[in-house]
Amino acid sequence: MSENCIFCKIARGEIPAKKVYEDDDFVVFHDINPAAPVHLLLIPRRHVVSMQDVTAEDAGWLGRMMTLVPRLAAENGCNPGPDGGFRLMANSGVEGGQEVPHLHFHILGGSRPWKGRVAPNA
Ligand code: 5GP
Ligand code: ZN
Repeated sequence: MSENCIFCKIARGEIPAKKVYEDDDFVVFHDINPAAPVHLLLIPRRHVVSMQDVTAEDAGWLGRMMTLVPRLAAENGCNPGPDGGFRLMANSGVEGGQEVPHLHFHILGGSRPWKGRVAPNA
């Protein structure tokens, strides 16, 4: 836990967010500035700054975090099957384009074209 971290505050319920899932280890909520028709953020409750900090010791919780992705995508409007899908993104560090220093997965999806800030074919 990090006192002034915005995503820790969302996880603790101190800042409102449109949460769609939470359990003992993870919280999922809608991005406040969506870049696609579906734009979720999946965070661990523990304050890990980015994927730059992950080591083999994190395989357990990180594996559980990964396996939540398809379920959350399907339950929140990402289209099924090979013509549907989603983009999983983890900006890491300044050069990775990370703005909030608490590890998060972006889950982006929904019918094309996307008009948000994520380049459609990138
Ligand atoms: P990053 O650039 O760090 O990979 O992504 C941070 C994301 O968090 C951005 O897409 C931004 O819109 C989102 N975000 C920043 N502050 C808040 C907030 O207070 N609430 C929610 N729901 N999303 C936020
Ligand atoms: Zn945090």
